[in-house]
Amino acid sequence: MAKYCLECNQKLNLFKFPVRFKNGSVCNSCVKEFGFPGASEITIAWQVNARSVDWEEFKSKPELVEQWRAEIEEQNAKVEARKAEQQAEKFEKERLRCPKCKSINIQVLGKQKKGFSVGKAVGGAVLTGGVGTLAGFAGKNGKKVEFVCLDCGTQFKK
Ligand SMILES: [Zn+2]
Ligand SMILES: [Zn+2]
Repeated sequence: MAKYCLECNQKLNLFKFPVRFKNGSVCNSCVKEFGFPGASEITIAWQVNARSVDWEEFKSKPELVEQWRAEIEEQNAKVEARKAEQQAEKFEKERLRCPKCKSINIQVLGKQKKGFSVGKAVGGAVLTGGVGTLAGFAGKNGKKVEFVCLDCGTQFKK
């Protein structure tokens, strides 16, 4: 690793946040002049890209910056999309469902047991607190909680 900036020939140290290229390193202020992201924006992806080219090559191809930026953004978007997908899948899996009809339209059958009419609840306004919260509720005190399916009326414990 060259100890001097390939562009300005100044001695490099960590405070100059040098970026390593294939043929040596360039200080932060020099890479910024040529459109390379500054020290605070340099990600691993940028570092890997920089190491794949000579500094001279990078300088002569300003379109490289845009190309890399687009590639990195595309990668990030993919990662984000995958994350969202996995979360949706996880949520779907953990959802509490009626054991009979697999409906997610269920409600805790708790204190309102007395006089609670399933028929009334079915077709009426349904609790939209989210079944996720119900699942969490069930696990919290370790005790089984009684639920009722608002679609078919099945009562079950979880
Ligand atoms: Zn420099
Ligand atoms: Zn059901």
